[in-house]
Amino acid sequence: MTQPAKVEPLPTADADLQALQASYDRLRAAWNQQGGLPYKQRMELLGKVLKWVRAHKQELVTEISADYGHRSPHETLMAEVFTVIDDIKHTRTHLAEWMEEQPRPVAATFKPGTAKVIWQPLGVVGVIAPWNYPFQLAILPIVAAVSAGCRVLVKPSELTTRTAALLDRLCQEVFPSDVVAVVQGGLEVGAAFSRLPFDHLFFTGSTAVGRHVMRAAAENLTPVTLELGGKSPVIIHPDFPLARAAERIVYGKLFNAGQTCIAPDYVLVRQDQVDALVAALQGAVASSYPSIAENPDYTSIINDRHHARLRAWIQDARDKGATVVECNPKGEALDPSRRKLALHLVLGGTEEMTVLQEEIFGPILPIVPVADVDQAIAWVNARPRPLALYYFDWSQKRADDLVQRTWAGGVTLNDTILHFSQLELPFGGVGPSGTGAYHGWYGFRTFSHEKGIFRQARLNGGKLIAAPYGKVTDTLLKVMIG
Ligand code: NAD
Repeated sequence: MTQPAKVEPLPTADADLQALQASYDRLRAAWNQQGGLPYKQRMELLGKVLKWVRAHKQELVTEISADYGHRSPHETLMAEVFTVIDDIKHTRTHLAEWMEEQPRPVAATFKPGTAKVIWQPLGVVGVIAPWNYPFQLAILPIVAAVSAGCRVLVKPSELTTRTAALLDRLCQEVFPSDVVAVVQGGLEVGAAFSRLPFDHLFFTGSTAVGRHVMRAAAENLTPVTLELGGKSPVIIHPDFPLARAAERIVYGKLFNAGQTCIAPDYVLVRQDQVDALVAALQGAVASSYPSIAENPDYTSIINDRHHARLRAWIQDARDKGATVVECNPKGEALDPSRRKLALHLVLGGTEEMTVLQEEIFGPILPIVPVADVDQAIAWVNARPRPLALYYFDWSQKRADDLVQRTWAGGVTLNDTILHFSQLELPFGGVGPSGTGAYHGWYGFRTFSHEKGIFRQARLNGGKLIAAPYGKVTDTLLKVMIG
Protein backbone atom coordinates (compact mmCIF):
# COMPACT_ATOMS: atom_id res chain seq x y z
CA MET A 1 0.00 0.00 0.00
CA THR A 2 2.95 2.39 -0.19
CA GLN A 3 2.11 5.17 -2.56
CA PRO A 4 3.74 7.87 -4.69
CA ALA A 5 6.29 10.30 -3.29
CA LYS A 6 5.11 13.18 -1.14
CA VAL A 7 3.82 16.20 -3.01
CA GLU A 8 5.98 19.30 -3.27
CA PRO A 9 4.64 22.10 -1.02
CA LEU A 10 2.15 24.26 -2.89
CA PRO A 11 3.51 27.61 -4.11
CA THR A 12 1.01 29.87 -2.37
CA ALA A 13 -0.46 29.97 1.11
CA ASP A 14 -3.92 30.62 -0.22
CA ALA A 15 -6.58 29.03 1.99
CA ASP A 16 -8.18 27.07 -0.87
CA LEU A 17 -4.87 25.58 -1.85
CA GLN A 18 -4.09 24.67 1.73
CA ALA A 19 -7.50 23.04 2.09
CA LEU A 20 -6.80 21.12 -1.11
CA GLN A 21 -3.49 19.84 0.19
CA ALA A 22 -4.97 18.94 3.59
CA SER A 23 -7.82 16.96 2.01
CA TYR A 24 -5.45 15.14 -0.30
CA ASP A 25 -3.10 14.28 2.58
CA ARG A 26 -6.00 12.95 4.66
CA LEU A 27 -7.21 10.69 1.85
CA ARG A 28 -3.68 9.52 1.10
CA ALA A 29 -2.98 8.75 4.75
CA ALA A 30 -6.21 6.75 5.00
CA TRP A 31 -5.30 4.87 1.85
CA ASN A 32 -1.84 4.08 3.18
CA GLN A 33 -3.26 2.84 6.48
CA GLN A 34 -6.49 1.17 5.40
CA GLY A 35 -6.34 0.74 1.63
CA GLY A 36 -9.50 0.57 -0.44
CA LEU A 37 -13.09 0.10 0.61
CA PRO A 38 -14.46 -3.40 1.17
CA TYR A 39 -17.58 -4.54 -0.72
CA LYS A 40 -19.90 -4.03 2.25
CA GLN A 41 -18.80 -0.44 2.80
CA ARG A 42 -19.11 0.40 -0.91
CA MET A 43 -22.67 -0.94 -0.93
CA GLU A 44 -23.59 0.94 2.24
CA LEU A 45 -22.17 4.23 1.01
CA LEU A 46 -23.81 3.96 -2.40
CA GLY A 47 -27.11 3.11 -0.71
CA LYS A 48 -26.77 6.23 1.43
CA VAL A 49 -26.07 8.41 -1.61
CA LEU A 50 -29.16 7.01 -3.29
CA LYS A 51 -31.31 7.83 -0.28
CA TRP A 52 -29.78 11.29 0.07
CA VAL A 53 -30.43 12.14 -3.56
CA ARG A 54 -34.05 10.97 -3.31
CA ALA A 55 -34.56 12.95 -0.11
CA HIS A 56 -32.96 16.14 -1.47
CA LYS A 57 -34.29 16.18 -5.01
CA GLN A 58 -36.21 19.37 -4.44
CA GLU A 59 -33.14 21.13 -3.09
CA LEU A 60 -31.21 20.01 -6.15
CA VAL A 61 -33.92 21.50 -8.36
CA THR A 62 -33.81 24.78 -6.41
CA GLU A 63 -30.04 25.15 -6.09
CA ILE A 64 -29.24 24.25 -9.68
CA SER A 65 -31.91 26.65 -10.85
CA ALA A 66 -30.41 29.35 -8.67
CA ASP A 67 -27.01 28.73 -10.25
CA TYR A 68 -28.50 28.95 -13.73
CA GLY A 69 -30.86 31.84 -13.20
CA HIS A 70 -33.44 29.35 -14.36
CA ARG A 71 -33.08 25.61 -14.94
CA SER A 72 -36.10 23.55 -15.96
CA PRO A 73 -37.12 21.49 -12.89
CA HIS A 74 -37.96 18.55 -15.15
CA GLU A 75 -34.53 18.64 -16.72
CA THR A 76 -32.93 18.61 -13.29
CA LEU A 77 -35.12 15.72 -12.16
CA MET A 78 -34.28 13.76 -15.31
CA ALA A 79 -30.61 14.57 -15.76
CA GLU A 80 -29.37 15.11 -12.23
CA VAL A 81 -31.70 13.01 -10.08
CA PHE A 82 -33.08 10.12 -12.15
CA THR A 83 -29.79 9.53 -14.02
CA VAL A 84 -27.88 9.34 -10.74
CA ILE A 85 -30.41 7.08 -9.03
CA ASP A 86 -30.55 4.81 -12.06
CA ASP A 87 -26.77 4.50 -12.16
CA ILE A 88 -26.49 3.76 -8.43
CA LYS A 89 -29.26 1.14 -8.54
CA HIS A 90 -27.58 -0.55 -11.48
CA THR A 91 -24.20 -0.44 -9.75
CA ARG A 92 -25.55 -1.88 -6.50
CA THR A 93 -27.33 -4.67 -8.38
CA HIS A 94 -24.20 -5.73 -10.24
CA LEU A 95 -21.31 -4.79 -7.99
CA ALA A 96 -20.76 -8.22 -6.44
CA GLU A 97 -20.63 -9.78 -9.88
CA TRP A 98 -18.29 -7.05 -11.24
CA MET A 99 -15.91 -7.60 -8.33
CA GLU A 100 -15.66 -11.35 -8.85
CA GLU A 101 -12.23 -12.51 -9.82
CA GLN A 102 -12.13 -14.02 -13.27
CA PRO A 103 -10.33 -17.29 -13.86
CA ARG A 104 -8.54 -17.27 -17.22
CA PRO A 105 -7.43 -20.22 -19.36
CA VAL A 106 -3.75 -21.16 -19.33
CA ALA A 107 -1.91 -22.48 -22.38
CA ALA A 108 -0.86 -26.15 -22.25
CA THR A 109 2.80 -25.14 -21.92
CA PHE A 110 2.19 -23.44 -18.55
CA LYS A 111 -0.22 -25.96 -17.06
CA PRO A 112 -0.95 -27.00 -14.37
CA GLY A 113 -0.39 -23.35 -13.33
CA THR A 114 -3.55 -21.25 -13.12
CA ALA A 115 -4.39 -17.67 -14.11
CA LYS A 116 -6.93 -15.11 -13.00
CA VAL A 117 -7.77 -11.41 -13.12
CA ILE A 118 -8.69 -9.50 -9.99
CA TRP A 119 -10.11 -5.97 -9.72
CA GLN A 120 -8.19 -3.75 -7.36
CA PRO A 121 -9.17 -0.20 -6.41
CA LEU A 122 -6.69 2.22 -7.99
CA GLY A 123 -6.22 4.26 -4.82
CA VAL A 124 -6.80 7.96 -4.20
CA VAL A 125 -8.46 9.46 -7.27
CA GLY A 126 -9.28 13.02 -8.31
CA VAL A 127 -12.48 14.17 -10.01
CA ILE A 128 -12.79 17.58 -11.68
CA ALA A 129 -16.32 18.52 -12.76
CA PRO A 130 -17.83 21.16 -15.07
CA TRP A 131 -20.86 23.40 -14.53
CA ASN A 132 -23.36 22.20 -17.13
CA TYR A 133 -24.78 19.24 -15.17
CA PRO A 134 -23.11 20.35 -11.98
CA PHE A 135 -24.42 17.59 -9.75
CA GLN A 136 -24.56 14.61 -12.06
CA LEU A 137 -21.09 15.11 -13.53
CA ALA A 138 -19.54 15.26 -10.07
CA ILE A 139 -21.50 12.49 -8.36
CA LEU A 140 -21.45 9.86 -11.14
CA PRO A 141 -17.65 9.68 -11.17
CA ILE A 142 -17.75 9.51 -7.34
CA VAL A 143 -20.22 6.61 -7.56
CA ALA A 144 -17.97 4.83 -10.05
CA ALA A 145 -14.85 5.42 -7.95
CA VAL A 146 -16.52 4.29 -4.72
CA SER A 147 -17.94 1.22 -6.48
CA ALA A 148 -14.35 0.33 -7.34
CA GLY A 149 -13.28 0.90 -3.70
CA CYS A 150 -11.29 4.13 -4.22
CA ARG A 151 -10.98 7.21 -2.05
CA VAL A 152 -12.01 10.37 -3.88
CA LEU A 153 -11.21 14.07 -3.92
CA VAL A 154 -13.65 16.15 -5.98
CA LYS A 155 -13.45 19.68 -7.38
CA PRO A 156 -16.78 20.99 -8.67
CA SER A 157 -17.02 23.98 -11.00
CA GLU A 158 -16.61 27.47 -9.59
CA LEU A 159 -19.49 28.66 -11.82
CA THR A 160 -22.16 26.67 -9.97
CA THR A 161 -21.36 27.49 -6.37
CA ARG A 162 -24.75 26.68 -4.86
CA THR A 163 -24.79 23.20 -6.35
CA ALA A 164 -21.17 22.78 -5.28
CA ALA A 165 -22.17 23.63 -1.70
CA LEU A 166 -24.98 21.07 -1.85
CA LEU A 167 -22.59 18.44 -3.20
CA ASP A 168 -20.24 19.23 -0.33
CA ARG A 169 -23.11 18.74 2.10
CA LEU A 170 -23.99 15.39 0.57
CA CYS A 171 -20.39 14.24 0.82
CA GLN A 172 -20.05 15.37 4.44
CA GLU A 173 -23.33 13.74 5.43
CA VAL A 174 -22.78 10.47 3.59
CA PHE A 175 -19.05 9.78 3.40
CA PRO A 176 -16.36 9.69 6.08
CA SER A 177 -13.98 12.58 5.35
CA ASP A 178 -11.17 10.13 4.55
CA VAL A 179 -13.27 8.42 1.87
CA VAL A 180 -14.70 11.30 -0.19
CA ALA A 181 -13.92 15.02 0.17
CA VAL A 182 -14.89 18.09 -1.82
CA VAL A 183 -12.62 21.05 -2.47
CA GLN A 184 -13.93 24.30 -3.87
CA GLY A 185 -12.11 26.69 -6.14
CA GLY A 186 -11.53 27.97 -9.62
CA LEU A 187 -8.75 27.76 -12.16
CA GLU A 188 -5.88 28.07 -9.69
CA VAL A 189 -7.24 25.31 -7.48
CA GLY A 190 -8.03 23.24 -10.61
CA ALA A 191 -4.46 23.60 -11.82
CA ALA A 192 -3.02 22.68 -8.39
CA PHE A 193 -5.51 19.81 -8.15
CA SER A 194 -4.32 18.26 -11.39
CA ARG A 195 -0.69 18.48 -10.21
CA LEU A 196 -1.40 16.21 -7.21
CA PRO A 197 -0.05 12.65 -7.55
CA PHE A 198 -3.42 10.93 -7.72
CA ASP A 199 -3.64 7.28 -8.71
CA HIS A 200 -6.15 8.36 -11.36
CA LEU A 201 -7.51 11.70 -12.48
CA PHE A 202 -11.00 11.93 -13.93
CA PHE A 203 -11.65 15.21 -15.71
CA THR A 204 -14.88 16.39 -17.33
CA GLY A 205 -14.68 19.70 -19.14
CA SER A 206 -13.45 21.43 -22.24
CA THR A 207 -10.87 20.08 -24.63
CA ALA A 208 -8.70 23.16 -24.01
CA VAL A 209 -8.52 22.60 -20.24
CA GLY A 210 -8.22 18.84 -20.82
CA ARG A 211 -4.86 19.54 -22.45
CA HIS A 212 -3.61 21.32 -19.29
CA VAL A 213 -4.91 18.52 -17.09
CA MET A 214 -3.22 15.81 -19.13
CA ARG A 215 0.05 17.75 -19.17
CA ALA A 216 -0.03 18.24 -15.38
CA ALA A 217 -0.95 14.59 -14.78
CA ALA A 218 1.90 13.46 -17.03
CA GLU A 219 4.42 14.88 -14.52
CA ASN A 220 3.30 12.19 -12.04
CA LEU A 221 2.46 9.61 -14.70
CA THR A 222 -1.06 9.78 -13.30
CA PRO A 223 -3.44 8.02 -15.69
CA VAL A 224 -6.33 10.20 -16.84
CA THR A 225 -9.88 9.82 -18.00
CA LEU A 226 -10.80 12.86 -20.06
CA GLU A 227 -14.48 13.46 -20.72
CA LEU A 228 -14.27 16.36 -23.14
CA GLY A 229 -16.44 18.14 -25.69
CA GLY A 230 -16.44 18.81 -29.40
CA LYS A 231 -18.77 19.47 -32.29
CA SER A 232 -21.26 16.59 -32.42
CA PRO A 233 -22.84 16.38 -35.89
CA VAL A 234 -26.27 15.27 -37.03
CA ILE A 235 -26.61 13.63 -40.45
CA ILE A 236 -30.05 13.15 -41.98
CA HIS A 237 -30.59 10.64 -44.77
CA PRO A 238 -32.77 12.18 -47.53
CA ASP A 239 -35.43 9.45 -47.06
CA PHE A 240 -35.92 10.15 -43.35
CA PRO A 241 -39.05 12.16 -42.43
CA LEU A 242 -37.77 15.65 -41.64
CA ALA A 243 -40.49 16.48 -39.11
CA ARG A 244 -39.49 13.50 -37.02
CA ALA A 245 -35.78 14.29 -37.25
CA ALA A 246 -36.46 17.94 -36.38
CA GLU A 247 -38.46 16.99 -33.30
CA ARG A 248 -35.64 14.82 -31.95
CA ILE A 249 -32.94 17.36 -32.85
CA VAL A 250 -34.85 20.06 -30.98
CA TYR A 251 -35.19 17.70 -28.02
CA GLY A 252 -31.42 17.09 -27.81
CA LYS A 253 -30.51 20.66 -28.67
CA LEU A 254 -32.81 22.54 -26.32
CA PHE A 255 -32.46 20.22 -23.34
CA ASN A 256 -30.56 22.47 -20.90
CA ALA A 257 -30.64 25.14 -23.66
CA GLY A 258 -27.95 23.35 -25.62
CA GLN A 259 -25.49 23.37 -22.73
CA THR A 260 -24.87 19.66 -23.05
CA CYS A 261 -21.58 18.06 -24.09
CA ILE A 262 -23.42 15.76 -26.51
CA ALA A 263 -25.96 18.30 -27.79
CA PRO A 264 -26.27 18.22 -31.58
CA ASP A 265 -23.82 20.92 -32.66
CA TYR A 266 -24.74 21.23 -36.35
CA VAL A 267 -26.80 19.40 -38.98
CA LEU A 268 -25.69 18.03 -42.35
CA VAL A 269 -28.62 17.68 -44.72
CA ARG A 270 -29.07 17.43 -48.47
CA GLN A 271 -29.04 20.85 -50.12
CA ASP A 272 -32.60 20.64 -51.50
CA GLN A 273 -33.97 19.79 -48.03
CA VAL A 274 -32.58 22.78 -46.13
CA ASP A 275 -35.73 24.92 -46.38
CA ALA A 276 -38.00 22.05 -45.36
CA LEU A 277 -35.73 21.27 -42.41
CA VAL A 278 -35.78 24.89 -41.26
CA ALA A 279 -39.59 24.86 -41.35
CA ALA A 280 -39.66 21.52 -39.50
CA LEU A 281 -37.29 22.80 -36.81
CA GLN A 282 -39.37 25.92 -36.33
CA GLY A 283 -42.47 23.73 -36.01
CA ALA A 284 -40.76 21.43 -33.52
CA VAL A 285 -39.65 24.37 -31.36
CA ALA A 286 -43.17 25.83 -31.45
CA SER A 287 -44.76 22.59 -30.31
CA SER A 288 -42.20 21.80 -27.58
CA TYR A 289 -41.72 25.40 -26.40
CA PRO A 290 -44.69 27.53 -27.50
CA SER A 291 -43.16 30.41 -25.54
CA ILE A 292 -39.74 31.09 -24.07
CA ALA A 293 -39.61 34.02 -21.65
CA GLU A 294 -41.81 32.67 -18.87
CA ASN A 295 -41.73 29.02 -19.93
CA PRO A 296 -40.45 26.93 -16.98
CA ASP A 297 -39.29 24.22 -19.41
CA TYR A 298 -36.82 26.59 -21.10
CA THR A 299 -33.48 26.81 -19.33
CA SER A 300 -31.35 29.96 -19.12
CA ILE A 301 -27.77 30.34 -20.24
CA ILE A 302 -25.50 29.79 -17.25
CA ASN A 303 -24.03 33.30 -16.92
CA ASP A 304 -23.59 36.67 -18.62
CA ARG A 305 -20.23 35.71 -20.12
CA HIS A 306 -21.65 32.67 -21.91
CA HIS A 307 -24.78 34.59 -22.93
CA ALA A 308 -22.61 37.34 -24.43
CA ARG A 309 -20.38 34.73 -26.09
CA LEU A 310 -23.34 33.06 -27.82
CA ARG A 311 -24.80 36.38 -28.94
CA ALA A 312 -21.42 37.44 -30.29
CA TRP A 313 -21.17 34.19 -32.25
CA ILE A 314 -24.61 34.78 -33.79
CA GLN A 315 -23.53 38.30 -34.73
CA ASP A 316 -20.25 36.99 -36.13
CA ALA A 317 -22.20 34.58 -38.39
CA ARG A 318 -24.49 37.42 -39.52
CA ASP A 319 -21.54 39.75 -40.16
CA LYS A 320 -19.87 37.12 -42.31
CA GLY A 321 -22.95 36.65 -44.49
CA ALA A 322 -25.03 33.89 -42.86
CA THR A 323 -28.80 33.96 -42.73
CA VAL A 324 -29.90 33.54 -39.12
CA VAL A 325 -33.39 32.25 -38.33
CA GLU A 326 -34.56 32.78 -34.75
CA CYS A 327 -36.99 30.13 -33.47
CA ASN A 328 -38.99 32.31 -31.14
CA PRO A 329 -42.59 31.11 -31.64
CA LYS A 330 -44.27 34.12 -30.02
CA GLY A 331 -41.69 36.65 -31.17
CA GLU A 332 -41.08 37.58 -27.53
CA ALA A 333 -38.53 40.16 -26.51
CA LEU A 334 -36.15 38.24 -24.26
CA ASP A 335 -34.67 40.19 -21.36
CA PRO A 336 -30.88 39.68 -21.61
CA SER A 337 -30.54 39.83 -17.84
CA ARG A 338 -32.57 36.60 -17.59
CA ARG A 339 -30.34 34.96 -20.21
CA LYS A 340 -32.96 32.96 -22.08
CA LEU A 341 -31.78 32.57 -25.63
CA ALA A 342 -34.00 31.31 -28.48
CA LEU A 343 -32.72 28.64 -30.85
CA HIS A 344 -30.90 30.34 -33.73
CA LEU A 345 -30.52 28.41 -36.99
CA VAL A 346 -27.52 29.48 -39.05
CA LEU A 347 -27.85 29.03 -42.82
CA GLY A 348 -25.12 29.61 -45.36
CA GLY A 349 -22.44 29.24 -42.70
CA THR A 350 -18.78 29.22 -43.71
CA GLU A 351 -15.66 27.96 -42.01
CA GLU A 352 -14.68 31.56 -41.19
CA MET A 353 -17.56 31.75 -38.73
CA THR A 354 -16.94 30.85 -35.10
CA VAL A 355 -20.10 28.69 -34.99
CA LEU A 356 -18.48 26.35 -37.49
CA GLN A 357 -15.14 26.30 -35.68
CA GLU A 358 -15.87 26.04 -31.96
CA GLU A 359 -18.11 23.79 -29.88
CA ILE A 360 -21.31 25.85 -29.63
CA PHE A 361 -22.63 24.76 -26.21
CA GLY A 362 -25.85 26.75 -26.49
CA PRO A 363 -28.97 27.17 -28.65
CA ILE A 364 -27.35 27.88 -32.02
CA LEU A 365 -27.61 25.30 -34.81
CA PRO A 366 -25.77 25.68 -38.10
CA ILE A 367 -27.34 23.77 -41.00
CA VAL A 368 -24.75 22.67 -43.51
CA PRO A 369 -25.95 21.60 -46.96
CA VAL A 370 -24.32 18.54 -48.53
CA ALA A 371 -24.76 16.69 -51.83
CA ASP A 372 -25.33 13.32 -50.17
CA VAL A 373 -24.54 11.19 -47.13
CA ASP A 374 -21.09 10.33 -48.47
CA GLN A 375 -20.21 14.01 -48.51
CA ALA A 376 -21.55 14.36 -44.97
CA ILE A 377 -19.31 11.48 -43.85
CA ALA A 378 -16.31 13.11 -45.52
CA TRP A 379 -17.13 16.41 -43.75
CA VAL A 380 -17.23 14.72 -40.34
CA ASN A 381 -14.08 12.69 -40.93
CA ALA A 382 -12.15 15.77 -42.04
CA ARG A 383 -12.66 17.32 -38.59
CA PRO A 384 -11.64 16.46 -35.00
CA ARG A 385 -13.39 13.33 -33.76
CA PRO A 386 -16.59 14.41 -32.00
CA LEU A 387 -18.03 13.21 -28.70
CA ALA A 388 -21.30 12.07 -30.31
CA LEU A 389 -22.77 11.54 -33.75
CA TYR A 390 -26.42 11.34 -34.71
CA TYR A 391 -27.73 9.71 -37.86
CA PHE A 392 -31.35 9.60 -38.94
CA ASP A 393 -32.10 6.71 -41.31
CA TRP A 394 -34.55 3.79 -40.96
CA SER A 395 -32.26 1.61 -43.05
CA GLN A 396 -30.23 -0.38 -40.57
CA LYS A 397 -27.81 -1.49 -43.26
CA ARG A 398 -26.96 2.09 -44.24
CA ALA A 399 -26.75 3.11 -40.59
CA ASP A 400 -24.36 0.24 -39.80
CA ASP A 401 -22.25 1.32 -42.76
CA LEU A 402 -22.15 4.95 -41.60
CA VAL A 403 -21.24 3.95 -38.06
CA GLN A 404 -18.32 1.90 -39.40
CA ARG A 405 -17.10 4.75 -41.57
CA THR A 406 -17.19 7.55 -38.98
CA TRP A 407 -15.44 8.10 -35.65
CA ALA A 408 -17.18 9.57 -32.60
CA GLY A 409 -17.28 8.82 -28.86
CA GLY A 410 -20.81 7.41 -29.10
CA VAL A 411 -23.78 7.29 -31.43
CA THR A 412 -27.55 7.56 -31.22
CA LEU A 413 -29.44 6.51 -34.33
CA ASN A 414 -32.83 8.06 -35.19
CA ASP A 415 -32.75 10.23 -32.07
CA THR A 416 -30.30 12.37 -30.11
CA ILE A 417 -28.40 12.21 -26.79
CA LEU A 418 -30.01 8.97 -25.57
CA HIS A 419 -26.93 6.76 -25.84
CA PHE A 420 -25.80 8.63 -22.72
CA SER A 421 -28.59 7.06 -20.65
CA GLN A 422 -27.84 3.44 -21.56
CA LEU A 423 -26.34 1.91 -18.44
CA GLU A 424 -24.67 -0.92 -20.31
CA LEU A 425 -22.91 1.34 -22.81
CA PRO A 426 -19.51 2.98 -22.25
CA PHE A 427 -19.78 6.78 -22.25
CA GLY A 428 -16.73 8.68 -23.41
CA GLY A 429 -15.03 10.39 -26.29
CA VAL A 430 -12.35 9.45 -28.76
CA GLY A 431 -9.17 11.44 -29.42
CA PRO A 432 -9.84 15.16 -28.93
CA SER A 433 -13.32 14.46 -27.50
CA GLY A 434 -11.94 12.29 -24.73
CA THR A 435 -9.99 9.35 -23.42
CA GLY A 436 -11.56 6.52 -21.43
CA ALA A 437 -15.17 5.96 -20.49
CA TYR A 438 -17.54 5.40 -17.58
CA HIS A 439 -21.16 4.62 -16.59
CA GLY A 440 -22.06 1.31 -14.94
CA TRP A 441 -19.42 -1.37 -15.34
CA TYR A 442 -17.22 0.93 -17.42
CA GLY A 443 -16.97 3.29 -14.45
CA PHE A 444 -16.07 0.41 -12.14
CA ARG A 445 -13.41 -0.66 -14.62
CA THR A 446 -12.05 2.88 -15.03
CA PHE A 447 -11.27 3.13 -11.32
CA SER A 448 -10.00 -0.46 -10.93
CA HIS A 449 -6.69 -2.00 -11.75
CA GLU A 450 -7.24 -5.19 -13.71
CA LYS A 451 -4.49 -7.23 -12.15
CA GLY A 452 -3.39 -10.37 -13.97
CA ILE A 453 -2.12 -13.11 -11.69
CA PHE A 454 -0.38 -16.33 -12.70
CA ARG A 455 -0.06 -18.99 -9.98
CA GLN A 456 2.61 -21.61 -10.50
CA ALA A 457 1.71 -25.17 -9.45
CA ARG A 458 3.81 -27.16 -7.00
CA LEU A 459 4.68 -29.65 -9.73
CA ASN A 460 5.48 -27.85 -12.95
CA GLY A 461 7.62 -27.85 -16.06
CA GLY A 462 9.50 -24.62 -15.25
CA LYS A 463 12.88 -26.38 -15.30
CA LEU A 464 12.28 -27.54 -18.89
CA ILE A 465 12.40 -23.98 -20.15
CA ALA A 466 15.25 -22.75 -17.92
CA ALA A 467 19.03 -22.82 -18.42
CA PRO A 468 21.07 -24.85 -18.83
CA TYR A 469 19.28 -25.39 -22.13
CA GLY A 470 19.64 -28.80 -23.68
CA LYS A 471 17.91 -31.31 -25.85
CA VAL A 472 14.65 -31.26 -23.90
CA THR A 473 14.33 -27.51 -24.34
CA ASP A 474 15.20 -27.83 -28.04
CA THR A 475 12.48 -30.44 -28.51
CA LEU A 476 9.99 -28.34 -26.57
CA LEU A 477 10.82 -25.25 -28.62
CA LYS A 478 10.26 -27.23 -31.81
CA VAL A 479 6.81 -28.18 -30.59
CA MET A 480 6.06 -24.67 -29.30
CA ILE A 481 7.23 -22.80 -32.39
CA GLY A 482 6.07 -25.38 -34.90
P1 NAD B 1 -13.90 23.85 -18.26
O1 NAD B 1 -12.90 22.98 -18.94
O2 NAD B 1 -13.78 25.31 -18.39
O3 NAD B 1 -13.90 23.56 -16.69
C1 NAD B 1 -14.07 22.25 -16.16
C2 NAD B 1 -13.44 22.18 -14.78
O4 NAD B 1 -12.04 22.33 -14.90
C3 NAD B 1 -13.91 23.25 -13.80
O5 NAD B 1 -14.08 22.66 -12.54
C4 NAD B 1 -12.74 24.22 -13.78
O6 NAD B 1 -12.60 24.94 -12.58
C5 NAD B 1 -11.57 23.29 -13.96
N1 NAD B 1 -10.35 23.90 -14.46
C6 NAD B 1 -10.21 25.07 -15.12
N2 NAD B 1 -8.90 25.27 -15.45
C7 NAD B 1 -8.24 24.20 -15.00
C8 NAD B 1 -6.87 23.79 -15.05
N3 NAD B 1 -5.94 24.55 -15.64
N4 NAD B 1 -6.54 22.60 -14.52
C9 NAD B 1 -7.47 21.81 -13.96
N5 NAD B 1 -8.78 22.14 -13.88
C10 NAD B 1 -9.15 23.32 -14.39
O7 NAD B 1 -15.31 23.32 -18.76
P2 NAD B 1 -16.74 23.91 -18.44
O8 NAD B 1 -16.90 25.22 -19.12
O9 NAD B 1 -17.01 23.81 -16.99
O10 NAD B 1 -17.66 22.81 -19.17
C11 NAD B 1 -17.96 22.86 -20.52
C12 NAD B 1 -17.13 21.88 -21.32
O11 NAD B 1 -17.17 20.59 -20.75
C13 NAD B 1 -17.64 21.70 -22.74
O12 NAD B 1 -16.54 21.64 -23.62
C14 NAD B 1 -18.36 20.37 -22.69
O13 NAD B 1 -18.46 19.70 -23.92
C15 NAD B 1 -17.51 19.63 -21.72
N6 NAD B 1 -18.29 18.56 -21.11
C16 NAD B 1 -17.98 17.27 -21.39
C17 NAD B 1 -18.75 16.26 -20.85
C18 NAD B 1 -18.47 14.82 -21.12
O14 NAD B 1 -19.03 13.99 -20.42
N7 NAD B 1 -17.64 14.48 -22.10
C19 NAD B 1 -19.80 16.58 -20.00
C20 NAD B 1 -20.07 17.91 -19.74
C21 NAD B 1 -19.31 18.90 -20.29
